[in-house]
Amino acid sequence: MLNFSFQNPTRIVFGQAQLAKLSTLIPTGSKVLLLYGGGSIKSNGVYDQVVKALSGFDWQEFSGIEPNPSFETLMRAADIVRREKIDFLLPVGGGSVIDGSKFIAAAAMFHGDAWDILANGARVTSAVPLGCVLTLPATGSESNGNSVVTRYDTQQKLSFSSPLVYPKFAILDPSVTFSLPPKQVANGVVDAFIHVIEQYLTYPVNAPVQDRFAEGLLQTLIEEGPKALRDPDNYDVRANIMWAATMALNGLIGQGVPQDWATHMIGHEITAVYGLDHAQTLAIVLPALLQQQRQQKREKLLQYGRRVWQLQHSDEERLIDEAINHTRAFFEQMGVPTRLADYGITADAVDILVAKLEVNGMVKLGEHGDITPEITKQILRSAI
Ligand code: NAP
Ligand code: FE
Repeated sequence: MLNFSFQNPTRIVFGQAQLAKLSTLIPTGSKVLLLYGGGSIKSNGVYDQVVKALSGFDWQEFSGIEPNPSFETLMRAADIVRREKIDFLLPVGGGSVIDGSKFIAAAAMFHGDAWDILANGARVTSAVPLGCVLTLPATGSESNGNSVVTRYDTQQKLSFSSPLVYPKFAILDPSVTFSLPPKQVANGVVDAFIHVIEQYLTYPVNAPVQDRFAEGLLQTLIEEGPKALRDPDNYDVRANIMWAATMALNGLIGQGVPQDWATHMIGHEITAVYGLDHAQTLAIVLPALLQQQRQQKREKLLQYGRRVWQLQHSDEERLIDEAINHTRAFFEQMGVPTRLADYGITADAVDILVAKLEVNGMVKLGEHGDITPEITKQILRSAI
């Protein structure tokens, strides 16, 4: 196992009717900015519950944070935070609203051009504190320090991480996810699944605790994901998916093990250029990447096939093929197509996407840093 230092400071408040605790979680006397997206929280009743909980606070709101939140919109919110002397941010929504709020938290306190945080790794030295209400289980953003932001004019989707933007608390009420359209349920399950894979399917470092955690999360998502589509009003199914998605990317399973993240980095470019949903891009890239990296990932692919999919072939090459086929079939079963062509994207995309990766310095991807632009081209060609 590799060395690590681990702390996750986010208080998780989980379960039905837990939104009522919101007022006790925000520091008394805070001047609060409620942040949300396109209005789903107004149609499913979450907005009303939040407004009720905020009655004792001085608060205002900022709406319209887009899926794949835009730098431009977030900078407008950061201006409001500065001007109105907001001292607590309350994102209510999915990964986009929470990621966006993390960037706002950092940008509002940043001296200089906040784009440098994303494009040039400028260090975040202070941030407005935030706490969140999660409405879409997928990203783990509710309990991690990561944020992904898109600049539409230059088609760049870039991320930053800072311990200063971990949410102080996250309210996870699975019943607020009943209103999700099937496509977003599926996207969430696929994103969470691939977060686990990025931290598990690398090379062995003798870390059975992390491996078993990861395999448990993968099996849970494989079992519960299709149930959420078949039986959308089942609370326990929603609850298990919500908790699995948080555990997939709250840092725990990634401690002491090598991490990949090439699928995410390549996927971000597909969203930036063609506007696909985050999870759709991952479902396209991962099966092709696993095929391309089958030698480097050989031992873990065999372990994954045997333990997660219960495959038992004596022929190891066939077992690896089957493990990858099962992975693809699971995404398709969830209703997320796995080929670029399924989204109307043709072979000329390969050079465009790889050129964007190079501009963003993503030229040595994967746990070995051996996924060069040339290898990425091979992966994308086989994903068409
Ligand atoms: P999202 O972009 O936050 O939301 C997708 C859609 O779902 C929005 O239209 C949203 O509507 C709607 N929605 C959310 N909750 C709903 C509910 N309860 N009922 C009905 N509709 C609901 O989706 P996401 O997958 O959570 O986030 C994706 C973003 O997170 C991407 O930018 C991705 O790159 C990023 N990401 C971050 C991390 C991380 O570690 N921080 C990891 C992976 C991905 P409204 O706009 O109306 O709310
Ligand atoms: Fe993701």
